Amino acid sequence: MEEKKKIAIAIDGPAAAGKSTVATRVAEILGFTYIDTGAMYRAFTYAVIKKGLDPTNEQQSCLVIPEVDITLTPDHRVFCNGEDVSEVIRTPLVSSQVSYIASYKDIRIALVKLQQKMAEKDSVVMDGRDIGTNVLPNAEVKIYLLADFNTRVMRRFEENIGKKLEVPYGDVAYELFLRDRIDSTRDFAPLKAAPDSIYIYSTPSSKIEDVVEAILEKVHQKTGMEIPCH
Ligand code: C5P
Repeated sequence: MEEKKKIAIAIDGPAAAGKSTVATRVAEILGFTYIDTGAMYRAFTYAVIKKGLDPTNEQQSCLVIPEVDITLTPDHRVFCNGEDVSEVIRTPLVSSQVSYIASYKDIRIALVKLQQKMAEKDSVVMDGRDIGTNVLPNAEVKIYLLADFNTRVMRRFEENIGKKLEVPYGDVAYELFLRDRIDSTRDFAPLKAAPDSIYIYSTPSSKIEDVVEAILEKVHQKTGMEIPCH
């Protein structure tokens, strides 16, 4: 039997632009595997903190590379060395340190290798910062998802309230600002739209379903794939 062609969809963009919500839904509709690469950098950050090391120290953080085993499950749980870290990696402590970890070349090389391996097996929707430029440069569809700064801060602020995490609005704004700045100015694989990306702006009034439909239409146009009823 002829093997089904594997398709890769890359979704990049700044923090809290809605990438994971949209990517999860697109993957669900298409029956693709969703890979949240941000969760992998977060899990690595957690491992460094748990060892009592300083995430702002590159040499210390890179020592952990051979000891870290990160797994993503089909039901979107994140495991680090066998421990379910799905919730703890979203806490303010990890969020405030993850961009330092993600700026270290050796850690990126290790995690990108793992991400590329995950994408070999199945059709994937992968979200992050360097998917279209670095991890999957041959992805059939590349999306760069944007939303203005206040919309992103409000989204993350409300998400925190939903999780009973009381983080002041100003702190959320500062964390996103700092993370975007570190992510877009680092030397190695910074946050950047690939030249062949399709830009999608989500506004406070955009519905998730509209952004999802726009992506599905691009998938159909670029690959000829019939989009399943949903
Ligand atoms: O997507 P999320 O906001 O959870 O990502 C957390 C952090 O992980 C980002 O701020 C960035 O520093 C890092 N990251 C990255 N490259 C990716 C995905 C995430 O540098 N592909």
